[in-house]
Amino acid sequence: MLTPIKNKVTIVTGGSKGIGKGIAKVFAKQGAKVMIVARGEDSAKATVNEIIKEGGIADYVLCDVSDWDSVQALVNTTLEKFGSVDILCANAGIFPQIKMSEMSPDDWDQVMSTNLKSTFLSVKACIPIFEKQNKGRVIVTSSITGPITGYPGWSHYGASKAGQLGFIKTAAMELAGFNTTINAVMPGNIATEGLDDLGEEYLASMAASIPLKSLGAVEDIANAALFFASDEASYITGQQIVVDGGQILPE
Ligand code: NDP
Repeated sequence: MLTPIKNKVTIVTGGSKGIGKGIAKVFAKQGAKVMIVARGEDSAKATVNEIIKEGGIADYVLCDVSDWDSVQALVNTTLEKFGSVDILCANAGIFPQIKMSEMSPDDWDQVMSTNLKSTFLSVKACIPIFEKQNKGRVIVTSSITGPITGYPGWSHYGASKAGQLGFIKTAAMELAGFNTTINAVMPGNIATEGLDDLGEEYLASMAASIPLKSLGAVEDIANAALFFASDEASYITGQQIVVDGGQILPE
């Protein structure tokens, strides 16, 4: 049994949908005060309402995670609202599929900014708080695509997700000076709205190819994030865990 994260203020970027929403709901169930971060207000508000209805504590702030001013404002708003930041889940990401022959330099930049630069920006914005508290936790949502596998149309995405793992190695060394850890979860194929574009038939064949025979649930990723956020993981930093139902195991 993990020590409860009751009242720990947790920022979840991309917390309005998919994996981020799963993280937000699981953390709120464990007693965390959750700040949902997204660009779209409707889904952010809906997720906050769901959490409150289930007895949790949550609010939302609209923010583009690729923009430094916007990220600083989000952290300040969280401080004003909840008084601290204990845990940062850097989860927001996009995964448009475009083959390199059709990919524009702007397409590349947009994915790198939203997925990789945003990770740096959100961690950087929290550093003064973690330093002052002499404590903090960062959990990054990476992927198996990029660090371990490839997929046509995802050269920019794979680079951004591998980049996150490179980032956490040095970040872990810098953050360790103030008792703050940073680790990554590497999901396989998780059932979220974001994957709907791939089509039902494709998703079914994807599930059949996974040793545990299903796509993952958002809670599978949230539970791994919860472990990294817990007191029990306080001596683990700069590491990553694959949560993929065994997807990367076959030849
Ligand atoms: P979804 O598309 O379901 O949700 C993405 C979330 O990120 C939304 O809340 C979205 O809200 C937010 N978001 C996107 N761009 C920005 C931005 N610029 N600023 C702020 N918020 C933003 O995606 P998933 O839940 O599937 O993916 C979440 C993370 O998990 C991503 O990093 C992804 O790479 C990773 N992942 C997902 C896998 C999967 O199978 N689903 C597999 C491996 C990794 P809004 O659009 O309103 O801004």
